[in-house]
Amino acid sequence: MIEVLIRGAVCTVCGCCCDDLNVEVTDGRVERVENACSLALSKFKHYSSERILKPLMRVGNGFKETSYKEAIQESARLLVNSNYPVLWGWCLTSCEAVELGLELAELVGGVIDNNSSVCHGPGLIGVQDIGISGCSLGEVKNRADLILYWGSNPVNAHPRHMARYTALAKGRFVASRRERKLIVVDVRRTETAKLADEFYQIEPNSDYELLTALRCAVNGEEIELSTVSGLPVERVEELADALISCRFGVLFYGLGLTMTYGKSRNLDAALSLVRDLNRKTKFLIMPMRGHFNVTGSNEVFTWVTGYPFGVDLSKGYPEYNPGITTISDVLRRGECDAALIVASDPIAHLPSTLAETLKKIPLITIDPHRTPTTEASQIVIPSAIIGLESTGTVYRMDGVPLECKRILDPPPGVKTDVEIMSDLLSRVKELLT
Ligand code: SF4
Repeated sequence: MIEVLIRGAVCTVCGCCCDDLNVEVTDGRVERVENACSLALSKFKHYSSERILKPLMRVGNGFKETSYKEAIQESARLLVNSNYPVLWGWCLTSCEAVELGLELAELVGGVIDNNSSVCHGPGLIGVQDIGISGCSLGEVKNRADLILYWGSNPVNAHPRHMARYTALAKGRFVASRRERKLIVVDVRRTETAKLADEFYQIEPNSDYELLTALRCAVNGEEIELSTVSGLPVERVEELADALISCRFGVLFYGLGLTMTYGKSRNLDAALSLVRDLNRKTKFLIMPMRGHFNVTGSNEVFTWVTGYPFGVDLSKGYPEYNPGITTISDVLRRGECDAALIVASDPIAHLPSTLAETLKKIPLITIDPHRTPTTEASQIVIPSAIIGLESTGTVYRMDGVPLECKRILDPPPGVKTDVEIMSDLLSRVKELLT
């Protein structure tokens, strides 16, 4: 018997933030989920495994359970006594929690950074350099007749992206796959490339060269080479012709562009190519954001400080200088002396030298699940899972805000990120007065 049917739930896995999930709940358990892809189904199936249910405090090589009040008090004390704390994560939580994190960072005088500094950060720097011709995914669905995925493999990383918004979507003005051209540029024949009308396999780390050659071809300049990025120049000109010939094109880029040689310069070139194309036709560009609220995290950082990631508040005003003020920079210099990690696992995902530095300082981690980072922490505070056990605002990859629904009750005594951040902030304010 279905006790509750929740329609239009937002999926909190990838940056597509699909908001059409129908979730059946029986006896407090998720029984069935409609419209979910394999990644989303896996989340619904495994959300309760490796769960942390009580606040933990380190004792020697192990942990002892502690009260929520004591965990908050000790966390506040650690942050207030720290000279230069780093506050990291913020992409797997709500915008409301991010806003509280920024207030906390200002109070304790630390660096606050989010996951985009190690994924799409170069894209954000490129946008600051050049500007962006953007749109919503709804416009893509209804109007785009050419889709170009560059260094991105949505079949595996964003499984419903093509069906909901691009090549396979049924749009208002472009209604079928036959009416859309799908092009993939990548260093290997990915699952997405196998579905493409045209696949351009390029040499690794040669995106900048190809983008620059495409700009030459689009602008009617001669390319004085026989090959570019491993492609015969005729293929480059053919690709440029396809881009010019569409009525409404969109370039979706992934980490294959932002994290290969050139980084933000690749994005300068891609954004400039799209600007050049707009002299001939309508062309737009969008990042394929990974975590479900990395876009929201960038938005809230920018509203509050003026900058999207890697903000140093230790001098009492926001300072932003990627290469100096991101988590990688402060860890590499060995400067931070405490860290608050919210909904992230940097020990598993940062380069090992930086992870080793993190392990040497007191870590406070707020997370629903046991991870390598919680295992290395001084204090662990369990949290509710947003989009499943708590509400909150998240931003889809195209910058559209969505309100997550609460589907289940969190485990007894487990608070939401917003409740935890509010309590931590209150305690820090008490200690500072
Ligand atoms: S594509 Fe992404 S947001 Fe959509 S259901 Fe799958 S994991 Fe969730």
